Amino acid sequence: MNHLSQSQLNLFSSATIDRMARTVGDVDELDVLANSDHARFLPVYDTKVLVANKTGRLAAAAMEQAELSSRFSCVNPPVYLGCKNDLHYFAVEVISAEKDVKQFADLRQSAALLNDNDAALLGYALAILTWQRNHQHCGACGAPTITRQGGHVLQCTAPTCAREHYPRTDPAIIVLVEHGDRALFGRKAEWPIHRYSTIAGFVEPGESAEQAVVREVAEETGVEVIESCYHSSQPWPFPGSLMLGYTACAGHSQIRLNDQELEEARWLSRQELADLMVCGEFLPPPPISISFRLIEDWFNRQHNIPFRVWCENNSANR
Ligand SMILES: [Zn+2]
Repeated sequence: MNHLSQSQLNLFSSATIDRMARTVGDVDELDVLANSDHARFLPVYDTKVLVANKTGRLAAAAMEQAELSSRFSCVNPPVYLGCKNDLHYFAVEVISAEKDVKQFADLRQSAALLNDNDAALLGYALAILTWQRNHQHCGACGAPTITRQGGHVLQCTAPTCAREHYPRTDPAIIVLVEHGDRALFGRKAEWPIHRYSTIAGFVEPGESAEQAVVREVAEETGVEVIESCYHSSQPWPFPGSLMLGYTACAGHSQIRLNDQELEEARWLSRQELADLMVCGEFLPPPPISISFRLIEDWFNRQHNIPFRVWCENNSANR
């Protein structure tokens, strides 16, 4: 499977929305679109998104202008996200009445109940509005910023500065390290009991993603990575990361928790992992995460029961 196909299987990256790059810069056209019958608005309140319950599943609550105006006050002009099936989507930060607050959901917790497109659309809306909220002042001179380009640029209002700020995405690596038939798992002290994941960390300035893989694995586990291979990526809108997924081979299996970021790191074969899951002593990362997918791909390579089926069959993982 190629990298594009792999990435499209990661939740939050599967949107087929047309981002309409040329339209974003045309203020008049955006105004017409926002006031047309084809406009749909996705309200975001603080760090939460509005979802609708549809017979047990959740869906993005995409509403028309009239409903938006009757229910919410908007904080800033809506941000144009793009077009899909002749509908134009806008993300809009709202002030919510007390009675409506409980309708907003934590996307991280509700994503598994959304279809792929709605999860991606809401992730996109949440990420860009969170960036806007955190950049109301120019990082260079401190003057207030105003929105440009359909909300995709924040420009400093100080005439002597006028700097343009673009949406920020923080790259992070996440890697499944193998040594023989075993893979490396770590857990942090603050995670739920028995929760394990693959090794992850932010890419630092002046560093390539591949160098970050080597450094993070060495810092957190003392294991030396001798080879790495790109797998896929996943936007992670909590608040604005891009996870770069890798697989890697280790030169040795000796573990040393150098930076104490992990409480524990351990090597597990597929069978050892499966056995631990049966007795509830291995809780995998959430199925919406790229970490889960890296483990799934590794597990499925040599196990006759698919990892997702194995997880569903073990109640300890629900
Ligand atoms: Zn400025």
